[in-house]
Amino acid sequence: MYKILGKTLAVAVLSMLASLLISFAFVPLMGGKVAGAGLVMTIVCPIVISIPASLVHFYRGEKLRSTNAALAAAKDELSAAYARLQHQAQRDALTGLLNRATFLAELEGRSDAGMHGGLLFLDIDHFKSVNDRFGHAVGDEALARVGAVFSELALEDDLVGRLGGEEFAIFLNAASPERMLDHSQIVREAVEAIDLTAPSGQRIPLGISIGAFHCAPRFNPAEALAASDRNLYRAKSAGRNMVVA
Ligand code: GH3
Ligand code: MG
Ligand code: MG
Repeated sequence: MYKILGKTLAVAVLSMLASLLISFAFVPLMGGKVAGAGLVMTIVCPIVISIPASLVHFYRGEKLRSTNAALAAAKDELSAAYARLQHQAQRDALTGLLNRATFLAELEGRSDAGMHGGLLFLDIDHFKSVNDRFGHAVGDEALARVGAVFSELALEDDLVGRLGGEEFAIFLNAASPERMLDHSQIVREAVEAIDLTAPSGQRIPLGISIGAFHCAPRFNPAEALAASDRNLYRAKSAGRNMVVA
């Protein structure tokens, strides 16, 4: 408000000075003299006219500015909400990993981009019995902890997803067959080392079987997944808690 009043006052003074300047420049040229009532009108008229006009003008300007600021803030909020929604739509709620559809779409993207890498199909061993013995909540905690281990060990360009239930997939971007095998063993050992305890205090050992498949450039995502799944099946058949490539 003070800003509007200040600007209005400034315009009034400038209007008055302009009016005086014009009067003193032109009235003598027309044979007249700026004095008496004429001088008073030269001073009063611009003030009386400019004050209400300026008040309306500056008030509207200020209102427009605050409306624009509110609109910009609302737009920022909307963009943030959209980004959050988009993030949620791509993620599995329990583990925060990519959900199945997003993982598969991203894997296809890597193939289209001519990328090569290691594809791991991972399945927690005897997970049903974790649920059966310790309850679903503990089972959920185990899934979240396992997911966190995968994320922590992955590099920035790797893909880590939960395909469903206790099945996960990891694409090690541009990884050599050696890195694929090393990473698989590191992941398997990290899952084994998870310190999960039941409410009773009993430690719950976790194991994971991993089927690995090395994808050459222009790999077929569906075939690569099927191949890693076959290796996972072999790991399960061979006794679990192991990596088969
Ligand atoms: P295997 O070693 O052969 O993989 O045996 P498994 O018990 O891990 O496999 P199975 O397919 O028999 O059981 C998977 C279990 O995973 C059954 C289901 O209750 C559990 N499960 C799937 N999704 C969730 C989930 O979101 N939360 C919890 N707590 N359990 C889940
Ligand atoms: Mg399992
Ligand atoms: Mg399974």
